[in-house]
This record gives sequence, C-alpha cells and structure tokens, in this order.
Amino acid sequence: MNYVGRFAPSPTGPLHAGSLVAALASWLDARAHQGQWLLRIEDVDTPRCVAGMAEFIVQQLAACGLYSDATAVYQSQRSALYQQALTTLLSVDRAYPCACTRRDLEAASLQSGQVRLRHSELIYPGTCRAGLRGRPARAWRLRVNHAPVCWLDRRLGAQQQDVNTAVGDFILKRADGCFAYQLAVVVDDAAQGITDVVRGADLVSTTARQIVLQRALGYATPRYLHTPLVLDANGDKLSKQTGAAAIDIERPLVALNQAAGVLGLTPQAGPVAAALNGWTQQWAELWLRSKKNAC
Ligand code: GLU
Repeated sequence: MNYVGRFAPSPTGPLHAGSLVAALASWLDARAHQGQWLLRIEDVDTPRCVAGMAEFIVQQLAACGLYSDATAVYQSQRSALYQQALTTLLSVDRAYPCACTRRDLEAASLQSGQVRLRHSELIYPGTCRAGLRGRPARAWRLRVNHAPVCWLDRRLGAQQQDVNTAVGDFILKRADGCFAYQLAVVVDDAAQGITDVVRGADLVSTTARQIVLQRALGYATPRYLHTPLVLDANGDKLSKQTGAAAIDIERPLVALNQAAGVLGLTPQAGPVAAALNGWTQQWAELWLRSKKNAC
C-alpha cells in the first residue's frame, strides 16, 4: 500500500506531552500501514522559531525511537516552492494582494467580538477583494468561495466548515514576508506525496482551509486523523506558549507510555523499541481492521 505520513513540528519550543501524542500516533499509523514516516520541520514562521530547537526535537524523537524514513525537510529552505504556488494562484485570480494593516483588522474584529483560535486569523471582511485602491500591498490572500467544505476525519467522523464565514479570504503570504502556515503545509504535503495526515485535534479547524487550497492548486486531499489533546490541570491544552514541560530524553518510556495512554493503547514495559512494536500491533487492531475508519 502506498502510505506516506509525516510529523511536522514547529521549532518554537521542545516536544512536550501533547506534541508527543501526535508524533507517536503519526509514527504508529505509518508503521501499521507499512508506510513511510517523514519529519518536516515547520520553521516557516521564522520570528517564532528558537535557534537550536529543531535539532533538540530530533534528539527528543530519537530518544523515543521515532526516526524519519528520509532526511528531514525544513520549510525555511522551501520558499521557492511556496512562491511558485502563490504565483499560480495569482495567475488564475484565486489570490490577491491586501493592503490592510493589523490595526484595520483588529478594529473590525473588536467590533464583531471575534475570538481567535490557534492558527486562526481574524475573519477577513474582504476589504481588498476588489483592489487596493492605491494603497500598497502588504500581504496576499486566497479568494475563498462560499461552498462549505465537507471531509471525513478518521477519528472524529464527518466534519464541515464554511471557510468563507469561518475565516474569509485567508492569508497566504504575510506582511513580514513569511509564507503562511496554511500555504506551506499544503504545498509540502503535496510535494512530499503525503497520503495521511495524523496530527493534534487543535488543528481540526485548519483542515477545511487546507482542503480549499488543495483544490485551488489541483492537489489531492490526504486522509486526516486528529488525535486527542493533552490538557493541563486547568483543563487547558498543553502548549509551548503556556510553558509545557519538555519530554525528558532520559526517561522516554515514561513519556511514551503517557502518550500511548492518551491514544487508548495499553502500557508497555521497556525497551523502547519493543514498546513501540507492541503499540504498532495495537494500533493496527484499532485502526486498520475497521472499514468505518477508512475515508
Ligand atoms: N507545525 C504545526 C504545529 O506545530 C503542525 C502542522 C501540521 O501537522 O499540519 O502546529
């Protein structure tokens, strides 16, 4: 079977208990399908990246027995690909320049009382859709159509989002010159031939945007499986922003057992390789036997 999966951390902080769940699940799914598992370092948002963090994440993954099946790719080295995709979208009028400042957008969002989620943007009111009216271009946006996007998550089932009402015309290239996560992730998933995206449930709300972009660029849509989130004592999602503790590379099995528990797998005794093997069997039972999980 042709299966290519990936784990795509942003090197903005170390791997923590929450990100290890996504790393382990994506690795297990690839192994259970006898597919490939690729590591992609998502350092496209350069101002938020921490020097040396990508290398540390690779070290943490290695301590957990999770090795990429190919040399890791770094988004910071792939701008030419993202530019090519943006140029294509501009040439068919699916992308357009935007002159709005952050202040313009914040003012509009304050008025409508919007709340922001991870990787979400303020709903764009469409100000520059019909042209810049003499103002300088700052960012580039995708022209989003009205049709709701429906897709099937392997764990969560049927999903639907009207991208136009959820976020509107979203950013492809930011005013600081960085390509947006949404564009980079879609271009890379296609370029790397990713068939299956397994990642944290905090990214569910970005999937419809990514499908809209895949369609606009003529790419195939991979299957998606969003894993459960790890919550802290306050019931908030563990995150780098709130200072979640790094995976301890001296005690990988403790971290792996915790991550496996979140995924509904039973605890394993060491060594790490044997534990991973045990979970791979369990994962295959859980996810490959049931036709209902196949998208
Ligand atoms: N780099 C993204 C993050 O750490 C994950 C992207 C993805 O898996 O699609 O939030």
